[in-house]
Amino acid sequence: MHGFDIPLPSAHFIAGRLVPAPEAIEVLSPSTGQRIGAIPRADADVVDQAVTAARDALRTSGWGGMAPRARARVLHAWADLIEAEAAPLARLEAICSSRPAAQAETGDVLVTAEQIRFFAEFADKEGGALVPTPDSSFGFISDHPYGVIGAITPWNFPISMAGWKLGPALAAGNAVVIKPSEMTPWTTLRLAELSVQAGMPAGLINVVMGDGPVTGNAITGHSGIDKVSFTGSTRAGAAIMENIARHGIKPMTLELGGKSPMLVFEDCDLDLAAECLDRGIMPNAGQFCVAGSRMLVHESIAEALAERLRARFACYRPADTLAPEAGFSPIISGRQMARIDSIVQAAAAQGAEILCGGQAFDREGSYYQPTLIAGVTQYSPAVTEEIFGPVATFQTFRDEEEAMTLAAHPTYGLAAGLFTGDLSRALRLTRRLEAGTVWVNRYGRSRDHILPTGGWKASGLGKDLGREAYLANRRTKSVLIDL
Ligand code: NAD
Repeated sequence: MHGFDIPLPSAHFIAGRLVPAPEAIEVLSPSTGQRIGAIPRADADVVDQAVTAARDALRTSGWGGMAPRARARVLHAWADLIEAEAAPLARLEAICSSRPAAQAETGDVLVTAEQIRFFAEFADKEGGALVPTPDSSFGFISDHPYGVIGAITPWNFPISMAGWKLGPALAAGNAVVIKPSEMTPWTTLRLAELSVQAGMPAGLINVVMGDGPVTGNAITGHSGIDKVSFTGSTRAGAAIMENIARHGIKPMTLELGGKSPMLVFEDCDLDLAAECLDRGIMPNAGQFCVAGSRMLVHESIAEALAERLRARFACYRPADTLAPEAGFSPIISGRQMARIDSIVQAAAAQGAEILCGGQAFDREGSYYQPTLIAGVTQYSPAVTEEIFGPVATFQTFRDEEEAMTLAAHPTYGLAAGLFTGDLSRALRLTRRLEAGTVWVNRYGRSRDHILPTGGWKASGLGKDLGREAYLANRRTKSVLIDL
């Protein structure tokens, strides 16, 4: 028994209604390790029903061709319902994810409603363009929705990740078949139910439950999916590219993993840097894509900064995600915690110094201590692999050039942070850093929906959020008329 007051159905959501289906995948609480429910695993037939429902909905509702303001009105009504249900949605989010309910309400649910409004407002402000042509012809670029977007989302920040996909896709006139992570399935289902209550045509959002190899593959390989929008690991992103190539080419947006550096120079505000480095890795126990998991620090301030970080990390107290006050987050699963620990122990065995943490908390559930590792080489898995836990490496540099060398990751390029009091240095290095986002004297996103987010290199393809995300859900057609 999960002891939770909101139903956790074993069901898909297709053509505007819950479609109950046999339980196939158990969902566990990371806070307690207990089973809290189960979901079905959609096979190719179920995915086909969802795609058919999406195409039917587009045809019968005329969603893609209706006045953009009419679409915007429905999206605003949907955002209203999400706001009205913010507290239960936050609890639903917290029950199986590592996000504390006390943070999810304002940090995720209300932000998701705000983002849906943000994208709703693009609908009547973006469009095609006339192009200059000779008098004997008339040329323009028209733009159109793709049709059906196949969206696949990860378990960290499930409601936000669903919002990042659904908001721009629907505002741009598409229908969506979405598969949430099998570990955190229910808030996406609830978002879909609320959309229908808000007046969105049934079938515009279809939620299929299941894992990657079966359900995910069926989505990315389906010929009725016009574009794939994925957020998750680089490993799964590569598998998706391969599957798409096998079934015929289609466009895709991929938001993938990272191993982001935070560079701290000797001329920074040390207290501010310590606070930002802490907030750059410890929220959600380090389980977020842009986690600043590689701290690169000028040697002259290394000791002072390490001391501040140790003191801050010692204050974290683990708590159940449903506790009234947010505590330190659990790791999503026992398996993932074992992986984190094995990377930390391998580093220690290779001679690294564990400055703090380095083991699980002694309590039920999967909680790992805030961990800082010094004395690592550039080739250590602790430095090269995305750990996705409350673990950061701590390396020192002598000058800017060495800092840049250490900052460059062979494959990832998601985000980076710079801490310096020197504006010229900030601008100079911002240019050189290979990352989709660079923060200076701060770290992490806030309500800045206008800034697109996405990775360079193996961290991704295309962008979420911002105008770019709206445009990524439209495709253009060039028209030339001979007069
Ligand atoms: P994951 O790749 O294991 O799973 C993500 C989703 O993809 C899940 O729904 C899963 O069922 C599905 N999936 C897995 N294999 C698939 C396949 N072959 N075909 C289709 N679908 C498949 O990732 P995760 O562990 O759920 O999430 C953590 C990862 O997500 C981290 O690497 C993190 O950096 C990344 N992430 C990136 C961003 C970003 O904006 N760049 C945001 C959040 C998370």
